[in-house]
Parts: sequence; structure tokens; C-alpha cells
Amino acid sequence: MERKPNLVLSVLQNKCPRCRHGKLYEDANPYHLKKFMKMNEHCPACGQPSEPETGFYFGTGYVSYALSVALSVSTFVAWWVLLGFSLYDNRIFWWLGVNAVLLIVLQPVLMRLSRSIWLAFFVYYDQNWRQDRILKV
Ligand SMILES: [Zn+2]
Repeated sequence: MERKPNLVLSVLQNKCPRCRHGKLYEDANPYHLKKFMKMNEHCPACGQPSEPETGFYFGTGYVSYALSVALSVSTFVAWWVLLGFSLYDNRIFWWLGVNAVLLIVLQPVLMRLSRSIWLAFFVYYDQNWRQDRILKV
């Protein structure tokens, strides 16, 4: 039997959660800002609809918020370990600035990732996806 692709990897690569093969987004580059959120209507590999119902992605705001917090926590820890913080200089403000820039620059990646994570919450891997292709309606 075919090996099941890793969940975390396929989410990070914005792959369809049902088959973990097809791409969710039309354009692989998140920095083509005109169409970076444009999704394939159906997974090109297994036919899974990328938007199962209208307003499906309404909740992704929470996911991208959580991702931003997680990213800030990790840059904070990394900064602490590598550069340290002190009450006697303004290193903490440097961190704030660098972190804010990083969050803005990574926004397209985070927004795409939150949809990918969101969809993976509701759609599970189907090992028979090759046979049970969902037909377009
Ligand atoms: Zn698929």
C-alpha cells in the first residue's frame, strides 16, 4: 500500500488534507500578492472541494492569530537566548520592531497556512482517495 504522506508536512506545503497530494492554491508563490489566496475550487488530485461551504474560512482569523502569537513567542525566545534582554538598554524595542516587520512580511504565508490548517481540522486523510475521487458537481 502507498505510504501516507506526513500530516504536518502536507499542511505546511498547503496540500489537500484528503489526499495530501493535490495543491490547495493555484499559485505556489505566496508573494504573488494579487492571487496568493486564490484556491483551486477542487483538489486537482482527488476532487475534494477546497471550500466545503460558504463562509467556511470565517474562523481562520483565529488560526492566523494563534500562528502570529506562536511566531512572536518563538522570536522572543530566540532573541532571549541569542541576544538577551536587559532593563538598561532598548533591546526589547528592537525585538518588538523586528518581530512586527517579520509578522508583516510573513503575513501571506501565515494566511495561507491558516486555511490549510483549518481545512485539515475538518477533512481527514482518505487512503482510498485514488479510487474514491469526488466528482465535480
Ligand atoms: Zn486532494
